[in-house]
Amino acid sequence: MVWFSYHGGHSGEFCDHASSSLQGVVEAAIDRGFTHYGLSEHCPRYRDQDLYPGEERLGTDGLIRAFDGYVDRAFALRDAYAGQIELLVGFETEKLPPETWLDAMLSLKNAHPFDYVVGSVHDIDGRWIDYSPQDTARLAEDLGGREALQLAYFRSVIDMVDRLRPDVIAHLDLVRKFEPPGFSFSVRVMKKIERLLEAIKASGGVIDVNCAASRNGYGPVYPLPQILSRAREMGIRATFGDDSHGVKTVGVGLGQSREAVCAAGYTEVSYLTRSRGWQSAAIAEVRPKGAG
Ligand SMILES: [Zn+2]
Ligand SMILES: [Zn+2]
Repeated sequence: MVWFSYHGGHSGEFCDHASSSLQGVVEAAIDRGFTHYGLSEHCPRYRDQDLYPGEERLGTDGLIRAFDGYVDRAFALRDAYAGQIELLVGFETEKLPPETWLDAMLSLKNAHPFDYVVGSVHDIDGRWIDYSPQDTARLAEDLGGREALQLAYFRSVIDMVDRLRPDVIAHLDLVRKFEPPGFSFSVRVMKKIERLLEAIKASGGVIDVNCAASRNGYGPVYPLPQILSRAREMGIRATFGDDSHGVKTVGVGLGQSREAVCAAGYTEVSYLTRSRGWQSAAIAEVRPKGAG
């Protein structure tokens, strides 16, 4: 039996909008039956205007120091708990700064022996798409409407996948976070999503079936069922992400990700190991009783 998540493990120790110590998060993952657990702390931001709200007192230097602290602690925990859980150490990207993000992300990746990278886009032109409904509505207005925002977002994710080729593609349709219940993308946007799936297929990346959306009341898990089914038809692999930001959210709602993958017709789910790379497990072999 295997149980895993590769997007999450944020902790209050190294992330201003998370809670708990990283060790607490790891111990919660062990308690909740995970066999493999990925730690993917947010990368630092390198410009003052890219700080998340609340991070101003830390500043960009503070974020860089915190990230270095994360790296040291994560690798130490990976060794310390090796007999109980396989921890994989990575980080979650930004497409920031807009002009130099690729160099910034590649130098971060090459500075440490990370096990993997989670590719995320949270902004358009340096403005957050997932922070608040008001900010996202204003951004959509400035870009010419919701569809224009969605197209800009998916264009940016395609570019990120083509150029960075991350191991895991995070919360694929994050741009619909604040859409109302029952939302679906237009035909025009679905065509762009099809292009994104082709890019993911070509890159060999694995999709993060991320339960933060359903846990927080933002509709079904990322990505929407129609997208996940299409990914399955195209032979794109899927894995799980709990997007945990502290002990309270470790594994919480991840059963929804498992259900979504089943509903999309997958018979196997992929999980990353340190020694043998990506492996696949039959759905029946995934998730111990009582977990998630
Ligand atoms: Zn976060
Ligand atoms: Zn994210």
